[in-house]
Amino acid sequence: MSGMIIKGKTGDWEVVCGLEIHCQIISKSKIFSGASTHYGSDVNQNVSFVDAGMPGMLPTLNEECVRQAVKTGFGLNAKINKYSAFARKNYFYADLPQGYQITQFKYPIVGEGFVKIELEDGSTKDIGVERLHIEQDAAKSIHDISPTKTFIDLNRAGVGLMEIVTKPDFRSPEEAGAFLRKLRSIVRYLGSCDGNMDEGSMRCDASISVRPVGSKELRPRAEVKNVNSVKFAMQAIDFEARRQVELYESGGTMQQQTCQFNQATGQTKFLRFKEFSDDYRYFPEPDLPPLVLSDEFIEDIKKNLIELPDAKKERFVKELGLTAYDASVICENKEMAEFFERAAQGHDAKKVANWLMGDFFAMLNEKKLSLEESPISAENLGKLVELITQNVINGKTAKDVFAIMAETGKAPEVIVEEKGLKQVTDTSAIEKIVDDVIAANPDNVASYKAGKTNLLGWFVGQVMKQSSGKANPGIVNQILKQKLG
Ligand code: MN
Repeated sequence: MSGMIIKGKTGDWEVVCGLEIHCQIISKSKIFSGASTHYGSDVNQNVSFVDAGMPGMLPTLNEECVRQAVKTGFGLNAKINKYSAFARKNYFYADLPQGYQITQFKYPIVGEGFVKIELEDGSTKDIGVERLHIEQDAAKSIHDISPTKTFIDLNRAGVGLMEIVTKPDFRSPEEAGAFLRKLRSIVRYLGSCDGNMDEGSMRCDASISVRPVGSKELRPRAEVKNVNSVKFAMQAIDFEARRQVELYESGGTMQQQTCQFNQATGQTKFLRFKEFSDDYRYFPEPDLPPLVLSDEFIEDIKKNLIELPDAKKERFVKELGLTAYDASVICENKEMAEFFERAAQGHDAKKVANWLMGDFFAMLNEKKLSLEESPISAENLGKLVELITQNVINGKTAKDVFAIMAETGKAPEVIVEEKGLKQVTDTSAIEKIVDDVIAANPDNVASYKAGKTNLLGWFVGQVMKQSSGKANPGIVNQILKQKLG
């Protein structure tokens, strides 16, 4: 059960939440013009006459944006609509030079689908997707240059967006957080959006209402706009749900409204009562014909789809024996999953996963390195695990070898050779050390024989120390028990 119950004075309440996510489409040029989408250019450099809303300029649809939307539709297990159409959403705002946004309204390019989310308790839940439509982004207002003026950067005006709308299926902030992470993972796998919420290329609006547990009604909701991190989205849902419960319990009523999230306080703030679609005077876009996709176009995209996180995860569990949890952590990031597969190739995959999620992640974290900058290659990580599996080194020596690999980037077998770290599995050599230890400690031998058998660990420690950590601990145990018993 991942739903959140809010204990009120009058009873138990549940949260009902849906998300709308705007994802900037990865494409070289904008959705209706040839201007560049390059992020970080000087202000107002990537602007065509179309983007600037000059009279008489006509939009031309960018096929690559359509391709990316269809690909993403497949990633959402959704229906691809062969027929879709553009509409004008009219509103005045300084960052919208045309005075309207070209979007899709009645006929979106992608219809219903679902996304599977994984929750902390190991359970999964399917979140319904209502639709995905494509539209143009607005420009960016800059408020912090002058105290009395607002400036406009048109570079973002006309960049392609995919707006993904979910069903109101979220019952807790945790579920919404899991969905956002999963969606980010899917679009990054597909290369249709970079998923960077902090740079604004993925922006989330959350519609939140509450109702008494057991009720099926949908009460008026608050829409929290433009939340720019997973953590903030979760905070906004939590705060807003509790605020509404308090409002109802003190006799107040909710009206559909739009709110803002304050990152500093973690609170939502009322902005305005909600506009409805009528307010936008939608009408069919006269400058663009309906978008009709051929079967070949759709099939070609489907045929070239890469393996998505869910499928990869399932394969890692079934074929490589990973736990569902390990597999989902490794598969969240495509590069990580590929690194793991290279490392596990021909070796004990479960052990490789343990090293990856333990020492390896810790090492990257500590050195503040990305995966690409790792001094330890996938192949060398696999070889290290193999050395343990083959009893060439023991687990403790492996930790030392790993540390040297992280410093030098050398292959593990080279380090083992150079430092003479090969495990001693030769029983006669170990037997000799055991004899020395027993001879040097008659008191402990006597205590052990008198029944203090937990001294065995101490004896093992002594033998390991004398072998400079190279003795095989299993064999040491065996011989010690024999000689002391
Ligand atoms: Mn939109």
